[in-house]
Amino acid sequence: MNDTQTDTLSAYNTGSEGKTLLKAEGLERKFGGLTAVADFSFELHDGEILGLIGPNGAGKSTTFNLISGFIPPTSGTLSFLGQNITSKSATYISRMGLIRTFQHESLLSEMSVADNIIIATTHRLKTAAARLERMREMAKLTGLEDYLEVTASSLPHGLQRMLSIAIALAAEPKVLCLDEPLTGLQGAEVKAALDLFEMIRSELGITILLVEHNMRAVMRICDRILVLNHGRLLATGTPEEVSQNELVIEAYLGHKK
Ligand code: ADP
Ligand code: MG
Repeated sequence: MNDTQTDTLSAYNTGSEGKTLLKAEGLERKFGGLTAVADFSFELHDGEILGLIGPNGAGKSTTFNLISGFIPPTSGTLSFLGQNITSKSATYISRMGLIRTFQHESLLSEMSVADNIIIATTHRLKTAAARLERMREMAKLTGLEDYLEVTASSLPHGLQRMLSIAIALAAEPKVLCLDEPLTGLQGAEVKAALDLFEMIRSELGITILLVEHNMRAVMRICDRILVLNHGRLLATGTPEEVSQNELVIEAYLGHKK
């Protein structure tokens, strides 16, 4: 992070933890009579990997849609980098540096790996040379450097997942929101993906919000975890605290242990 950004953010310092990059207050989203997210408040701190977990239908993807501006909240406020983004568009929010991936692949399937990544660089980088360089760096980071001319749809599943991450990284995010990025990955691929996430945080300095079903992975990689249940925050804490929380155990197993 450069000095200008540090100055801009200093008012939001939360003390011993990283500065608050993203803040949700009383977030709510209704779909007709169904309340998908209710009274959800949380903060995402600079430099952390924050997990967002909860049973199917808990409201995790809806939360991603809200914070990235794909759908507006029914009520509540969102701020990013100290700016109110509650009614801002997805394009505006992504240009501010909050980039999300989708639970289901959203690749340009008939285009090459290189073109999929290059398109994501165009808002920030103005010259072809800079875009190509960024594309090559992100492809290398995600293990795609030998597949640049391959069409996205003919990549094996695991590499399609890596491509969606390369596309997100190409846009130079400050915050990367990953929606179930490990789905369908095999053992060694899971480990490689987790190593990549750790590297994205430590070497690229990107803060991560992670929705993931693979509990072992979540427990290993997250600094803090938010647990949603029926759209409401059920618990929050370190992986250890959350995994020992009676309410969380009950929500996942449907009964007390
Ligand atoms: P999760 O990602 O935690 O599995 P979702 O956020 O996808 O959960 O969904 C939360 C609830 O909101 C579910 O009951 C789901 O059916 C509902 N929902 C999500 N998106 C829509 C939508 N666009 N229209 C109607 N209901 C929706
Ligand atoms: Mg989901």
